[in-house]
Amino acid sequence: MPIYEYGCYDCRKRVNLFFRSFAEVEAKTAVCPRCGGTRLKRLISKVAFVRSEESRLDSLADPGSLAGLDENDPKSMARWMRKMSHEMGEDLGEEFNEVVDRLESGEDPESIEKSMPELGGESGGGADDDWFGD
Ligand SMILES: [Zn+2]
Repeated sequence: MPIYEYGCYDCRKRVNLFFRSFAEVEAKTAVCPRCGGTRLKRLISKVAFVRSEESRLDSLADPGSLAGLDENDPKSMARWMRKMSHEMGEDLGEEFNEVVDRLESGEDPESIEKSMPELGGESGGGADDDWFGD
């Protein structure tokens, strides 16, 4: 969902407008949610919006964001995974939550992986075609 920041010439405030799609951004006249004025200037371009999303994801890959992560400590990993999920703003599904819960209770990551064969590695892409047998 695109979110744009506008400056309103009438009330001189910065406002955020939400749109259901990029097409709607082009089709609709932006109306200030504070004063109802239509003299709005878009402050953040579509490109800037996309880029900021990307940089948010980049920051997850930034070694700095791994600070405090101890791979040998399941609880530390669980905390990091929750943070990652939160930053992405996505519910990563029941399996993910189960893994995090079990890590948090101190279970060994390897034993979790073994008990959940459907995890099938870290990519989770399902690109491997081993599963349908011969
Ligand atoms: Zn206004």
